[in-house]
Amino acid sequence: MSDQQSHATPDQSHAIKGNIVAMRHRLEQALVNAGRPADSAAILAVSKTKPAAMLRAAFDVGQRLFGENYLQEALEKQRSLTDLDGIEWHYIGAIQSNKTRDVAEHFSWVHTVDREKIARRLSEARPPAMGALDICLQVNISREESKSGVMPEALSALAEQVLALPNLRLRGLMAIPAASDDPAQQHLSHARLRELFEELTRRHPEAPLDTLSMGMSGDMEAAIDEGATLVRLGTAIFGSRD
Ligand SMILES: *Cc1c(COP(=O)(O)O)cnc(C)c1O
Repeated sequence: MSDQQSHATPDQSHAIKGNIVAMRHRLEQALVNAGRPADSAAILAVSKTKPAAMLRAAFDVGQRLFGENYLQEALEKQRSLTDLDGIEWHYIGAIQSNKTRDVAEHFSWVHTVDREKIARRLSEARPPAMGALDICLQVNISREESKSGVMPEALSALAEQVLALPNLRLRGLMAIPAASDDPAQQHLSHARLRELFEELTRRHPEAPLDTLSMGMSGDMEAAIDEGATLVRLGTAIFGSRD
């Protein structure tokens, strides 16, 4: 991170606080329109490439959940934000198997588990004193060759493997659908993930499955309509990324 990026100007802090408040209203409205309770979904602030000072500004107005994609960058920010009591770190980036230890030791949640080897290594590396690591399985919902995520037909087997791991707690599913400006298409993708989630909860009624991580700045309303419990907002909070 350049020196220039390590600070947030008063204008930037002000804008971030305004954005958070605006997004809370947008989320509230989307929940009302979907006929859902006001507390049935939360905002994960996606802060990749943004300096620690911007996260601090978001924290100041009550934001507690933060999502990071790049491990080294995230660890640096965590080191400069240790005074923020109650901040909760979610790892939402690609995981290389040689990085599982750092992820297991420095995050509360991982949204991007898509194969057994990564899950097993996360479980082995999780310090018992931290409690179980909360997990979402990433599904390749649009079946894109270039994208990560387990294919829908392989989800059930992966879920069983993860449920058997002692230091992981399977909470739900996550997807990044193929980008589309068409609300009908957005609804279709999110509905597919919801159906997979419902199937999983039917199969595993004993599992603590309560999380559908779907919806970003451009498709939040469709995601909420289809049952998202955690919307991952980057641009809408912190502005565009270079
Ligand atoms: C960057 C990112 C987001 C946020 O996207 P925006 O369009 O900026 O809201 C959400 N989820 C994941 C996995 C991301 O990598």
